[in-house]
Parts: sequence; structure tokens; C-alpha cells
Amino acid sequence: MDRYYNKSSEEVLSLLQTTREGLKSEELGALKEKYGSNELVEGARKSIFRVFMEQFKDFLVMILIVAAIVSGVLGKLESAIVIIVVIMLNAILGTVQHVKAQKSLDALKALASPMAKVKRDGNATEIPSKDLMVGDLMLLDAGDFISADGRIIENYNLQVNESSLTGEAESVLKSAETISATDISLGDRKNMVFSGSFVTYGRAEVIVTNIGMSTEIGKIANLLENAQEKKTPLQVSLDQFGKKLAVIILIICGIILTLNIVKGASPADAFMFAISLAVAAIPEALSSIVTIVLALGTQKMAKENAIVRKLHAVESLGGISVICSDKTGTLTQNKMTVQKLFVNGEVIETSAVNKENELEHTLTLMSLLCNDAITRETKEIGDPTEVALVDLGELYGLDELVVREKYPRLAELAFDSDRKLMTTAHKLKGEQVAITKGAFDVILGRCDHIQTAAGIRPITEEDKAQIKQINRVFSEQSLRVLAFAYRPYDSTKALTLEDENHLTFLGLIAMMDPPRVESAQAVADCIKAGIKPVMITGDHKITASAIAKQIGILNSMDEAIEGKELDALSDEELRNKVDQISVYARVSPEHKIRIVKAWQDNGNVVAMTGDGVNDAPALKQADIGVAMGITGTEVAKDAASMILTDDNFSTIVKAISNGRNIYANIKNAIKFLLSGNTAGILAVLYCSLLALPNPFVPLHLLFINLVTDSLPAIAIGVEPYRKDIMKEKPRKMDEPLLSRSFALEVLFEGILISCVTLVAFYMGKQVNHLTASTMAFSTLCLARLFHGLNCRGKASLFQLGVFSNKASWLATLLGVVLWAMIMTIKPLMSIFEIASLSKEQFISIGMLSLVPLVVIQLIKLILGAQKVRSTSKN
Ligand code: ADP
Ligand code: MG
Repeated sequence: MDRYYNKSSEEVLSLLQTTREGLKSEELGALKEKYGSNELVEGARKSIFRVFMEQFKDFLVMILIVAAIVSGVLGKLESAIVIIVVIMLNAILGTVQHVKAQKSLDALKALASPMAKVKRDGNATEIPSKDLMVGDLMLLDAGDFISADGRIIENYNLQVNESSLTGEAESVLKSAETISATDISLGDRKNMVFSGSFVTYGRAEVIVTNIGMSTEIGKIANLLENAQEKKTPLQVSLDQFGKKLAVIILIICGIILTLNIVKGASPADAFMFAISLAVAAIPEALSSIVTIVLALGTQKMAKENAIVRKLHAVESLGGISVICSDKTGTLTQNKMTVQKLFVNGEVIETSAVNKENELEHTLTLMSLLCNDAITRETKEIGDPTEVALVDLGELYGLDELVVREKYPRLAELAFDSDRKLMTTAHKLKGEQVAITKGAFDVILGRCDHIQTAAGIRPITEEDKAQIKQINRVFSEQSLRVLAFAYRPYDSTKALTLEDENHLTFLGLIAMMDPPRVESAQAVADCIKAGIKPVMITGDHKITASAIAKQIGILNSMDEAIEGKELDALSDEELRNKVDQISVYARVSPEHKIRIVKAWQDNGNVVAMTGDGVNDAPALKQADIGVAMGITGTEVAKDAASMILTDDNFSTIVKAISNGRNIYANIKNAIKFLLSGNTAGILAVLYCSLLALPNPFVPLHLLFINLVTDSLPAIAIGVEPYRKDIMKEKPRKMDEPLLSRSFALEVLFEGILISCVTLVAFYMGKQVNHLTASTMAFSTLCLARLFHGLNCRGKASLFQLGVFSNKASWLATLLGVVLWAMIMTIKPLMSIFEIASLSKEQFISIGMLSLVPLVVIQLIKLILGAQKVRSTSKN
């Protein structure tokens, strides 16, 4: 085995036949032949056969199987066979659904798949992690996931969290030094990085040594067990409902069976009643409808720039009552342009720069050196804050690459949003200096000297007061202010955080980051929807407040506080005033967790955005963690339940509206299925209790539940999204789906449908039992189909737009056609025990089955009119 950690960087490079310029594209094909691709072979996924078999594990399906056996024993062989066929169809459908849902989840996952930065052909580019190759020069930054093993050849304070491999939670400090000891444990191989870990700090260049299954993590076989997608709360509560239902069905069936036998009915009849009841009650289509609607919903959301990583997020989205959002890039455009400089006691507009002025020149030069951004014609790489500085350089005729070549970087301390500082050391005009840039207040507090045109002198209180005053003026104009300072540096000693003290103040650079055009509208929409938007930023309080006012987050009643003030509050104090605070400025990622918890303790459902590696805990704590797709680190994306591909606040609001609508549609579909089943149960119960003959053969009910009812249910699931859903308050998460009022509505609608069914039954009974049963079946089937139109929404069809959901009309029509086939095609008629009906009988059926549609629409119209009157009164 190659012990790369024992070899020098040069040896590793020559061993793997690569260079510091990275692999050449023409080599990739051959290498891929040799090493394969950087993928872990997935743990055994459930085979399709197993998924299929699992469809029969369902208790309700077992009841059906028993029903088939019993009808077979009772001599109704055809009936038994058809029930079995239907059960098989149901299982096939379930399997197809499962595979489809898995596919669409995989597609979503692929959208959110991790990326890696590499140098190829001498240029830095981003590639999907699975395309990493042995010999690639991988570039690592804070927040990156490491997805291959490699040997570090250039190290800039790289720190890596390797907990997934070693269990050690503390970050490990890495180095590029060759290690002489052999046989050391993973944790001690400081010059190596391993797939499955992530960068918490610093930067490094790494030569990939192992990919795919030959990485250390690839060798740990059982780690790859595919994590199962957890069921969503809705699916869990439906499962529980299904179990309860099964028990109730069994009990009622038992009672009916004994009652009827005691009454002297033949055991065969008594059994058929019990079976019919069971078949009527089991909502076969329920769980697959929920899966379909969720899957369709997430596809729509992905098109609208919100990628859902966890299905349960779709449901929680509808309940969100607070959105805690980053400012920079999410509420603002993240397109920064420098507006003003402050140096030597003077404010300089960028429209009036003086290239000859020495201090202006020095400030700009330092801003290019203490900077990682690169801009080339159309391409901008790096933090927008730093890109703005590179653009500033152009005004002074300075090119970032040229000056960085001329004054190479000797050492560096990377920016992090806790310290809010960044430092680099250079040899500049014969002297070694460490340049620090960062948040104005942090830097000023560390300065004891100031640079003026007349030279360096100790900083006075007046100087500080003036600088603070300038910062205030800048910030009130919504400008983001960076301060610059420096100090002498000794390259024989390592650069440490200590070197960010005793600085000489040089100047300020203020840049503009205008709000996104959509932000103000999105904030207004939130407030209307009963959702509180909160701004969280590392930026200065005055800048943050100015922007928050512009877009409507900060109102006169609300407060803006700083991280420091937040530290001074106890958890309880924070909880008591959290709903008055709209802006948190100068916060660190750790503050975010406290803010989320305070809101949650007050019973809110919280969405929190994040991008950095330190944001991961807060993203996990939030009910919906939202990661930035463009600027977000891989670590943040992994912790989030939703990713915004456009980093835009208004996308969150859109996602919430989608979440609310998806939930409403699922609820309507469930109501449709349950009320139809209730109708069937009631009709069977009625006849059983009155010792009338059974109005249906089990097959009738099965046909309705499984075939004709599924179509409108799916159509209800794709009901166009209502815009005015965002005028309602967020849904209470503890409110059960099957609430009392919901149950009452289901019951009422069920009674209505079962009444018309029984009327048809009595009409047919005057001819003979076969006609009675045929008419009852037909009326139940059609009334339920038409009832699908009722269940499209709370409002009447006229308010919803009669033809706004074409699918629902199509579903109804298709259902009617299927029913008509059973009624007229001879072989089907005999299997389904259908009598041929007269024209008058068909007309009666048609009229009766329209009654529930008409009645319920009338009720909705009346209630709707009342509501309009009462709201206009208020
Ligand atoms: P946000 O993204 O909310 O604006 P950041 O954590 O990015 O907050 O930045 C916080 C502060 O740190 C900024 O106000 C700025 O003063 C400073 N800062 C931001 N980016 C850099 C950088 N690249 N180098 C040095 N300082 C920076
Ligand atoms: Mg930032």
C-alpha cells in the first residue's frame, strides 16, 4: 500500500504523474478507465420485489385477502378471483408509485449533489464530486466537503472536522509536512485529508490519492447502509389512522356478523355483509395519493428554485410563522460596488479618485492584497465584498494578479464570520507587513496608531470620534463598511491571531449592496401571511437597520440589536422580547441557534437561512433549514432541508405558499376519499341493520375505491394553487389533520351520498334485487365522482373557477366512462353482477347522483356570501 503521508509532496506528484497545475483534460479518459469514478457503491437498496411484497404487509390489504378467501369458500369464485386481481393491481400500483417517488427524490438529490473545486489544465474550476480523479489537484476552503482522500501539498491553516471517520468532534489542524513515522492512525495523518470530512477553517491544496471505494470511508463497508427517507408527519398520522381504522372495521364487522346470524340470516349472507363493510371502509388509494401529491409538489418547487431535500419539509413549510434570513445576498443583491473611501481624514467619492494620492493608492493596493477574489472579463470568482475591492483597483490602474505576483503572500489568517477579520502578510516596499481588513468596530478597537499623510502617529480620541462619525454617516446610507489596518510582521515567526492587535489604522472603504427588487414585496407578502421576517447579519447595526427599513422588515415598533446585546440577555429575557426584534446585527453563527430556540419556545415554526460551515447547527435546529445554493458551503447544504438555487428571500416565501397549497390539496383529497368511503359504509350498515339484502357485492366497492375514486383524488391533488392562501394565518402544527370539524364534514357529506344511494336502492328494489344493487352501485359510484368537484376547495366551484382544474373534469369524465363500460359490456356485467337498466332508471341514477354536488355547492355559496357580508361589516 502506498503510504502517501510518508512521501514528500514532490514524490506524491511524480508517483501519481501529475503536477501543481492539475490534471490535463486529455488524461482524464484513461484515468477513468483505470480508477473508475468517485462514487461509493450504495448499500443494498430495497429490490423492487421486496417493495412489491411489502404492499401485502399492510393490515388493511390482509383483510381484503381474507375477504377474497371467504367469498371463494362461499362459492363466489369469480368474485374471489377478481378481488385477488384487484389486490395484485393495487400492489403493482403501490410499487410503481414507490419507485416513481424514489426516482423523483433521486432527481432532487442529484440537483443538490455536492461539488468540488479542482485545478485542471492550470485553471481553477468546479466539478461534481463524483468526477474527482486520482491525481486531481483539489482546492479546499472553509465549508467544503471533502469527497476524496488526498495528500496536502500546500497548507494555509487548514482545519478539518473528521468526526464521521474518527468520532472526534474537535477540528484537526493539518499540515503539509512529510511524516516519517509509519503505521499511524487516521487521526494522526496530519498531511492527509479524508473523504467524508469537512473543512472548518483555512485553505489547502491537495493531491487526490484515492477515490470511490478505495477511500478510507469506502473501506468501512456497513457505513453505506442507505439512509431511509423518513415518513412525513402526515404519512405517519395517516398510517396511525389506518391502523385504528383496521381495528374499528374488524370490531364492526364482528358485531354485524353476529347480529345478522342471531337475526337468522344465512351465514353466507352475514359474511358477505361483513366483507362488504370491510371493503367499503378501507381507503386503498389514500397513501399513494399523498405520495403522488408530495412528489408532484416538490417537482414544481424545484422549478421555482427551491429544492426540497427532505419530504417532511413540504408539510412544515405550510406552518412556518417566522423566517430568519441572512441579509447579504438573500435580501440584498450581493453585487457590491465601492462608493466611498475614507483615508487621511477625508472622504473620497469613487467618481473623484486621485490616482496620484499616495494614501489612497496604498489603501487600494492593500485591499487587493488582503483579498482572494479574481475578476477576468466576464468571470468573477470570490466573495462579492472582495470582488468590489478588485473593481476598485481598476480605478487606480491596479490589477489584482499583477500586484499579488509582485508582493506575494507570506502568510494568512482566513476570514471567518466569528472574528469578522482577515489578515495577510506581504513584503511591501522593503518591509514586511501584515494587512488586516474587517468589520469597522472590531478593527478600530485594535488600533493604537493611525496613518496620515504626515506619517504614522498614535491614534487619539478625536481621531476615533471622527472615524466613528464617518462610519455612522456611511452606514446610514446603507453602505457596508470595511476597515483597513496594518502592522509590521516578522516572517521568521508564524502569523497568529495575536497579530491582529496593535494595528495602525489606514482607512475605510464603503460599498453599496442594494436590496433585491423582489425583497420588499416578499416581505410584505410574509407579513400579510402572518409570517414574521427577521434579518440576521454579520454586518453593522446601522447598515443593517437602514436596509431593513427600506424593505419593510424594520418598523417603528421593532428593535434592532447587536450580538453583544444578545449575549447580555438570558434565554428567558430573549424569549420575552424576541417577537419585537426584527434585526440582529454583528451576530456570529452561534447566535443563530439561540434566536431559533427562543422563537420555537414561543410555539413558532421557524425557517432559518445559512451558508457558512458554522451555520450547520442552526440549520439543523430550525424546523426548516434553508441553505444558499450559490454562495452556500457544502456543509450548510447538507444540514439544510431546503436549498435555494437562487439564494433569494422571495423564493422562501414562494416555497411557503407552495407548501401551504400542497397541504391544502392533500387534505382535500383525503376528505374526498374518506367521505366517499363513509357513504359506502353507511349504506351497507343501514341495510344490514334493517335486515335488507346487501346493496353491493364487494367488487362494486372495490371498483369504486380503487378505480373510479383514485382519479378525482389525484385531480384534487393538482388543484391550481390559490394565491389568496397567503392571506391566511399559518397552520397550527399541533392541529391534527383529522380534526373534529373535518370529521363532521366528512360525516355530513358521507350521509348525503349514502342517502341518495339508498333512494336508488329502494327504487330498484321494486323491480328485483339485482336491479336494486345495480342502481345503488351506480348512484354511489357517480355521486362520488361528482363529489370530487365539491372537494376541490373550501369555496364554491364558481369562486374556484369552474374550469380552472381541467384534470378534475377529465377525471370525472374518465370515471363515468369506466362505469359505463361495466354497465354495458356483457362479460363485465356478469362479473360485476349488473342488471341491464331502462332509460328511465339511468335518468334517475343520473339525477340522484347529482344531488350531493348541487346541495353542497349551494351550501358553499350561501356560506361564502355570509362570509363576504361579515367581513365587509368589519
Ligand atoms: P453578512 O454576510 O451578514 O453581511 P459577514 O459575516 O459576511 O456578514 O460579514 C460580517 C462583517 O465582516 C462585515 O460587515 C464586514 O465588515 C466583515 N467582512 C465581510 N467579508 C469580509 C472579508 N472577506 N474580509 C474581511 N472582512 C469581511
Ligand atoms: Mg457574508
